[in-house]
Amino acid sequence: MKTFEELGVSEEIRRAIEELGFEHPMPVQEEVIPYLLGNGNDVIALAQTGTGKTAAFGIPLLERTDPTNRNTQAVVISPTRELCLQIADDLKSFAKYIKGINIVAVYGGTSIIDQIHALKHGAQIIVATPGRLIDLMHRGAAKVQNVRNVVLDEADEMLNMGFSDSINEIFDNVPADRNTLLFSATMSKDIERIALNYLHDHKEIVVGSRNEGAENVNHIYYMVNAKDKYLALKRIVDFYPRIYGIIFCRTKAETQEVADKLIRDGYNAEPLHGDLSQQQRDITMQKFRQHITQLLVATDVAARGLDVDDLTHVINYGMPGDTESYTHRSGRTGRAGKKGTSISIIHTK
Ligand code: AMP
Repeated sequence: MKTFEELGVSEEIRRAIEELGFEHPMPVQEEVIPYLLGNGNDVIALAQTGTGKTAAFGIPLLERTDPTNRNTQAVVISPTRELCLQIADDLKSFAKYIKGINIVAVYGGTSIIDQIHALKHGAQIIVATPGRLIDLMHRGAAKVQNVRNVVLDEADEMLNMGFSDSINEIFDNVPADRNTLLFSATMSKDIERIALNYLHDHKEIVVGSRNEGAENVNHIYYMVNAKDKYLALKRIVDFYPRIYGIIFCRTKAETQEVADKLIRDGYNAEPLHGDLSQQQRDITMQKFRQHITQLLVATDVAARGLDVDDLTHVINYGMPGDTESYTHRSGRTGRAGKKGTSISIIHTK
């Protein structure tokens, strides 16, 4: 087993990560860190969350940053606010003993003014969601003309969320001779296209196997406050106008309540749960099978007898009690060679 010193990590960073309890590099770190600290520039790493990928790109990023220069030298782009904050926190803790490095997280859904202010002090590393970064670039608050490193984290998620144009725009505005690091849980045609357009002579690293689990199912989650769950659901449904899917709820009461709200808000939805008569349930299932109903709001039990193989989405309105139900629910999409998406709306509690 190698040490971080053998991978070429500097003393300041080693001190910080030792305090975090990192004793030995994780596999993705063992591959990515020495490569990027050497002559290698571009990397595609297929790695899921939990594999140590943040340190794999974060440590070389910090090693390559000049703390005496206040220009923005790196941008890390990630799909969600939570991930931005998480990455920025991790980078800050790795950089604890490096003087003068300023890392700023910017993301949508919150006031842009404070973020503009934070960037004014000079941020060598910006961790951003794509849309907000573009917005800040347009306002002249984020200046990316001196960027040497671009990291795309959870690139597959960003493409799923429709950030493809924003990513292209960011790449069009950073210097051509930058380094590009792309992290993704899965490899898809779209990821290959980005690699072709924006990476040069890249090294491809696979941690675990490619496209693990149900091959045709994409897994996405949104972390929201409990009171915003329904709002998040509406946003998701609005985002996929051609959605044909099941929204799984945990209880009969919740199922009825979510269906009622959706119907009231003008969506093509119907509830399916055990408090309805058998006749009602049969009619509901039939309408859903015939695509007359677009969204079925159901409990696990009620949806058991329903066999449809062309669902575009499964939405978990809250996580199910165990992994088995999750696998079972998401296995209802991505069938018969089709692509499907399993979305979970999780609340912060
Ligand atoms: P990530 O995949 O970046 O989300 O990291 C997963 C978790 O592993 C985080 O909590 C990290 O702090 C932790 N971690 C990363 N690298 C190491 C390491 N070399 N040794 C121990 N823990 C680590």
